[in-house]
Amino acid sequence: MLNKITILELPFISTTNQAFTQLLEQRLTRKQNTFIVTANPEIAVYAYDHPDYRNLIKTADYITPDGIGIIKAGQMLNTPLVERITGFDTLTSLLEIANKYSLKVYLLGAKPEIIQKTVTNIQQKYPKLKLVGYHDGYFQTEQPIMEQITQTQPDIVAVALGFPKQEEFIAKYRTVSPSTWIGVGGSFDVLSGSVKRAPTFIQNLHLEWLYRLLSHPTRLKRFGALPRFLKLIKQKH
Ligand code: UDP
Repeated sequence: MLNKITILELPFISTTNQAFTQLLEQRLTRKQNTFIVTANPEIAVYAYDHPDYRNLIKTADYITPDGIGIIKAGQMLNTPLVERITGFDTLTSLLEIANKYSLKVYLLGAKPEIIQKTVTNIQQKYPKLKLVGYHDGYFQTEQPIMEQITQTQPDIVAVALGFPKQEEFIAKYRTVSPSTWIGVGGSFDVLSGSVKRAPTFIQNLHLEWLYRLLSHPTRLKRFGALPRFLKLIKQKH
């Protein structure tokens, strides 16, 4: 059993990326139905304000601490989390596992040209994984997507629709296939090459958020949730 640390009523897993990857590999090879939420402070605050969404993400098998803000909260509460487990890193680990065992992968989300480029890059980098289908994230009806997932029974379904849409989609459809389902936010924008991730040394300095902000200043509004998140942490405990 994984250690869990509760922050704003969400049970975050407290483990290393390596141990989590091993666990996912085991679950994938056993075809266990799995729902992963990678939650940053923005998601935590949204879940705090929206009980329906909170209850929905609490049905996930794993909620990972995605972002230095969640790690800081763990420290403030004297219940430190082992480390940050991001959506992008978890997706990368899943693709590596898929390549190792030639697993079936389905990708959903992002703009049409972005998903197209993501598919090309993934096929190049992970030639042994089987890409059984994909769809951009700007669709009118979910039906054909759900039917394709039902038909192809992928081992991994990566959903990049942003929150809360991606988790709502997963919670609604996860029973159609015993897959590992994960909401991956803007990961396809990075995988397609249209958004760069911060260099490793910046990530290690815990300044990836600053890098992302400086390279995309329009993201500033996204940080609005952080002061409120920290205030809630101080109040609640
Ligand atoms: N997106 C989508 N359909 C929508 C809304 C968003 O496919 O209806 C995609 C969007 O193109 C982007 C991702 O969802 O690729 C959300 O990225 P964002 O940077 O908001 O997520 P983060 O990683 O910051 O949570």
